[in-house]
Amino acid sequence: MTIKKGPSLETIQKISAEIPTPYHLYDEKMLRDNAKRLNAAFSWNQNFREYFAVKATPNPVLLRIFQQEGCGVDCSSLTELMMAEQVGFSGDQIMFSSNATPAEDFEYARKLNAIINLDDITHIDFLQQHGGLPEKIVCRFNPGGEFKLGTFVMGNPGDAKYGFTREQLTEGFKKLMKLGVKKFGLHSFLASNTTDSTYYPTMARLLFKTAVELHEETGAEFFLINLSGGVGIPYRPDQDAADIEWIGNEVKKAYEEIIVPAKIGDVGIATELGRWMTGPCGWLISKAVHEKRIYKHYIGLDACACNLMRPAMYGAYHHITVAGKEDWPCDHVYDVTGSLCENNDKFAIERELPRIDIGDYVIIHDTGAHGFAMGYNYNGKLRSAEVLMKQDGSFRMIRRAETPADYFATLDFDHLEP
Ligand SMILES: *Cc1c(COP(=O)(O)O)cnc(C)c1O
Repeated sequence: MTIKKGPSLETIQKISAEIPTPYHLYDEKMLRDNAKRLNAAFSWNQNFREYFAVKATPNPVLLRIFQQEGCGVDCSSLTELMMAEQVGFSGDQIMFSSNATPAEDFEYARKLNAIINLDDITHIDFLQQHGGLPEKIVCRFNPGGEFKLGTFVMGNPGDAKYGFTREQLTEGFKKLMKLGVKKFGLHSFLASNTTDSTYYPTMARLLFKTAVELHEETGAEFFLINLSGGVGIPYRPDQDAADIEWIGNEVKKAYEEIIVPAKIGDVGIATELGRWMTGPCGWLISKAVHEKRIYKHYIGLDACACNLMRPAMYGAYHHITVAGKEDWPCDHVYDVTGSLCENNDKFAIERELPRIDIGDYVIIHDTGAHGFAMGYNYNGKLRSAEVLMKQDGSFRMIRRAETPADYFATLDFDHLEP
């Protein structure tokens, strides 16, 4: 059971007086606490580093916060690399985990001396031609088939586009060694948004064993095992959170059993958590602007799927509360919608909520990861502002909302004739 508290009505009123809804709000203290907890859970590993997955919340102020907490960044595209560079990350502080990678992205990643996490065996030649091969490299492993935790199927790596097969790893390592690569890492991402604490430990064992096998087959020396992202958050109040301290300790046990005796190198552990780091630290703050009764009872918000795509895209649950009515009985049933001309633009369907009045602030929870980031401009909707609630209780806008001028910036109205 997780109690979803959200920012107070007072806080929201204070911010909204200056920054109109909708906006994404992040809590600095919660962000820092998560980074600290994760770092502590893996502090047994001297070279541990969390590479925050930039795609989850690509805002430079958040990246700076994590930088101050000792984290690196995981980038997957040219602009994410550029943002990381602007914040001052370089070299080993940047993981570049991409796929179907454009040549210019590899070139830029090499220029920053980022750690390259190679997605495919054909990328060896491609990287050699575009940026050149580094002395140390990580390869992404796709074990194929089904990925099970006990008897429960967590994912279908066999259907996923990512990574090397097991055979390709052996072949790829041999080829990379011939081409001068000195140290290796192994990465895998086998389940997304899982709160099952056995996920990391189970995958760590698989990666550790595979690394030892590869060492025996090729003599490759290892510098890194990258557990990637995927540790989830309890979006529903009745869900339990993953136990990160327990996870860290179980990975340690596996490390001591498998890595230490095999003497395959000074192996650091990396994570690339996005959702776990920022998800619960953010809220989409919106206002109820319409109420409609037809065959169902609707509340229309000033936010829409362009501000938070997950419910429309995945049918994802996001908890909703009404600011100032946290203790009211949930004796109304609403569909809570945005204004897109798409019937899937609903933040909640038949949700039990307190009575919502026009002008109420409606808080959509757990939007700190893959929230603003997945936003888009359909129906000419503009992206919202992002606001940081600082540790001292004050707030600061860390991204302004788009204006119509931003929306029109790539068009040329002076030359309309085709
Ligand atoms: C998306 C992604 C992540 C972050 O995933 P979360 O579910 O947010 O933890 C990490 N690594 C890679 C390679 C990814 O594609």
